[in-house]
Amino acid sequence: MIVLGFESSCDETGVAVVSAERGLLAHALYSQVEMHQAYGGVVPELASRDHVRRVLPLTQQALNGAGLTLDDVDAVTYTAGPGLAGALLVGASVAQAIAWARDLPSIAIHHLEGHLLSPLLATPRPEFPFVALLVSGGHTQLMRVDGVGRYELLGETLDDAAGEAFDKTAKLLGLGYPGGPALSRLAESGRADRFDLPRPKLHSPDLDFSFSGLKTAVLTRMKTLDADDAQARADLAAATQDAIVSVLVAKAAKALEATGLKRLVVAGGVGANRLLRERLATHLARLRAQAYFPPLELCTDNGAMIAFAGALRLQAGLANPSERHMGFTVQPRWPLDAA
Ligand code: ATP
Ligand code: MG
Ligand code: FE
Repeated sequence: MIVLGFESSCDETGVAVVSAERGLLAHALYSQVEMHQAYGGVVPELASRDHVRRVLPLTQQALNGAGLTLDDVDAVTYTAGPGLAGALLVGASVAQAIAWARDLPSIAIHHLEGHLLSPLLATPRPEFPFVALLVSGGHTQLMRVDGVGRYELLGETLDDAAGEAFDKTAKLLGLGYPGGPALSRLAESGRADRFDLPRPKLHSPDLDFSFSGLKTAVLTRMKTLDADDAQARADLAAATQDAIVSVLVAKAAKALEATGLKRLVVAGGVGANRLLRERLATHLARLRAQAYFPPLELCTDNGAMIAFAGALRLQAGLANPSERHMGFTVQPRWPLDAA
């Protein structure tokens, strides 16, 4: 069974072709990040218009990459939310148009389910059940995952997401958008122990996070610094990254302990962070547990995870291949446990 998937929830247009039996066949991705850089963040209207420009050439590129045509496609999937309404509508309407034209089933996918299942595209592939640490630009959650469609929220951020904490502190440090990769690059030449930053909720008994205080702490430290002290900025970047990563590692370990599970799956853009990968691997080895990550290029938004989630839903019997949808909708706000 061949599934064609579309992602357009924010500032990446992604299209992918997945075989339910053989996994990812090809994916094509365009990031609008440069276009939004001038504004320091995503401009929704510009994002929607650019998705319109990119989506069909990317579809052709993905099909070519797989050596297939639309005739070979058995089902179409798209990100139906959460995300920017106008942006979501582009992927959703193209997917639905193909489904109508070709008399194919269409499956609305929750963006976070895509992130959550993306580590299953890697080798070795984690077995269910596992704990998922979902760390993206808009979300920071710990979930217990017992199977496709069986997700239990264990804890989440009470304010900013981990990616948001990276982005906002990077902005304070005068780094570009998105801040995560830039901040972690700067951190490589810094010493984390020069600044003692707060590690919110590090020792709280729950599995929740809080990152909003971090940017205030960074701002306060910045005011004490000489504006052109490059080393101090690198040290502050290293301290920020260390604070975020320490809390993520500690809470992920606590979630494994609480559930008695031995597998941790990391998903979302912050999952690309090298320090997080290293610290988790060593910490979990001590707990005789194992960490699994998606392939690096599939950590941030992409079509592969959406096509793959659709294929898994079909395989699990959670989507009916003979069902046809007469209408479609997107859900800018959509809790995963309601999906
Ligand atoms: P959501 O999925 O919650 O809607 P999103 O799709 O914007 O949000 P992703 O694309 O999964 O989020 O991830 C983007 C985030 O990942 C950004 O906040 C970015 O700064 C962060 N990020 C990417 N690479 C790194 C890195 N190497 N280190 C730290 N953060 C990173
Ligand atoms: Mg993005
Ligand atoms: Fe995302």
